[in-house]
Amino acid sequence: MGESGVLHTDSAALTRVSSDFGGMIRRRPDAVLVPGAAADIAEVIRSGRPVTARGRGHSTHGQSLVDGGVVIDMAGLGTVHRVEPGYAVIDGGASWRTVLEATLPHGLTPPVITDFLDLSVGGTLSLGGIGGTSHRHGAQSDNVLELEVVTGAGEIVTCSPGTDLFRAVLGGLGQCGIITRATIKLVAAPPTVLHRKIRYPDTAALNAAQRDLVLSGQCDHVEGLIVQDGGWSHVLEAVSFGAEEFAVPGGGEIIRSETVSYFDFLNRLGTEDEFLATLSRRVQPRPWCTVFLPHTAIDAAVDASLARPLAEVGTAGGFLVYPIQRSVFNTPLLRVPEDPMPFQFSVFRYADDDGDSAAMLAANRAVYGLALAAGGTLYPFASVPLDHAGWQAHWGPHWEFLRAARSSYDPAGILNRGQGIFP
Ligand SMILES: Cc1cc2nc3c(=O)[nH]c(=O)nc-3n(C[C@H](O)[C@H](O)[C@H](O)COP(=O)(O)OP(=O)(O)OC[C@H]3O[C@@H](n4cnc5c(N)ncnc54)[C@H](O)[C@@H]3O)c2cc1C
Repeated sequence: MGESGVLHTDSAALTRVSSDFGGMIRRRPDAVLVPGAAADIAEVIRSGRPVTARGRGHSTHGQSLVDGGVVIDMAGLGTVHRVEPGYAVIDGGASWRTVLEATLPHGLTPPVITDFLDLSVGGTLSLGGIGGTSHRHGAQSDNVLELEVVTGAGEIVTCSPGTDLFRAVLGGLGQCGIITRATIKLVAAPPTVLHRKIRYPDTAALNAAQRDLVLSGQCDHVEGLIVQDGGWSHVLEAVSFGAEEFAVPGGGEIIRSETVSYFDFLNRLGTEDEFLATLSRRVQPRPWCTVFLPHTAIDAAVDASLARPLAEVGTAGGFLVYPIQRSVFNTPLLRVPEDPMPFQFSVFRYADDDGDSAAMLAANRAVYGLALAAGGTLYPFASVPLDHAGWQAHWGPHWEFLRAARSSYDPAGILNRGQGIFP
């Protein structure tokens, strides 16, 4: 192994990368590479063994796991190289927390930050990466200026918007290359934010309030939570960056209002341990599900899930629902409905045992089926296993592009086989 990469084959190292946040799928590789440079990844790929990148293993249905072959533990490439006015150059294995720690001292931030900071840059860019500012700035993948990628042919390539490789990698689930470095946009970070939680009586009122806030442009971050509180409680999380006052739409009841630092707001879920400690039990499996739905279908879809037995989400379970604006989403492989204001809808399921998780997977399939029937799409970190035909349908008009890109950039088909996208 050249550069400073280390190839581990000991049992403890293999076990550590044999499962993921979902805790349902187990796949054991032959080796784990902790790379010190992109060249280490290229060398392993050129050996011809099946290879899968692992960001932080936060997908929920085996997306970063491989049986046999080599897992690339991208945490080995976690440096922020440059922070300049307007952009930063960062390693694909850096977490968004590390990125913020480097950019905030310069008064700068990526425009879109995921709700949880300990996800990797490459992991979310290979999906899209969305958050409460996505109604204004699109996905994280819409805010990338340049990528360094190791292709499935073992070549290290720098690519920019407008090239096939750039298009194939963003939202491309690691099928054509491994993101080793990204140049991402930065915008001014507010020192403080006004963070409000506002309760609404039901789904329709919550979603109407979210639509109002997005259309009026009053709030920078808009998300809706539906949480257990002796029944289902509908809570709007509305945040104004720079702590500007804003009108509460639709007669909601303010249950919390505070001005906090921008970082404290972004870090509201804390680290993984802190986040899991807030749940009643550290229950696993966690068959989570996220879909995008047209605005006309969102209220009924949410209410259909709320009407299901509590056992389908578990006593720690809940929902996240918020609007985005289609006009600012421009990553072709991130599938978002053709609707002016689609909503993302996440169901956080926590199973008490493996028996429950089977019912939860069935419930996820029902949510996805409902989304498909309404013109919706899947956010594929979810626990919704698809077969080859299902993947073709998922990418629809973009399938032929992805298939051609796969044969061009990964001719032997060794990258990320675990998802079963290509036979
Ligand atoms: C608590 C929690 C909160 C979350 N919040 C959000 C949120 O707010 N917004 C959101 O969009 N998502 C969210 N997610 C989902 C998250 O985006 C996915 O889990 C995603 O997979 C990123 O996690 P990861 O970095 O651990 O990547 P992994 O799960 O390790 O990998 C995900 C996929 O990307 C591939 N991959 C990883 N690194 C690279 C790379 N460098 N190059 C190419 N392919 C790569 C993997 O092979 C795999 O297919 C959340 C997940 C959890 C568990």
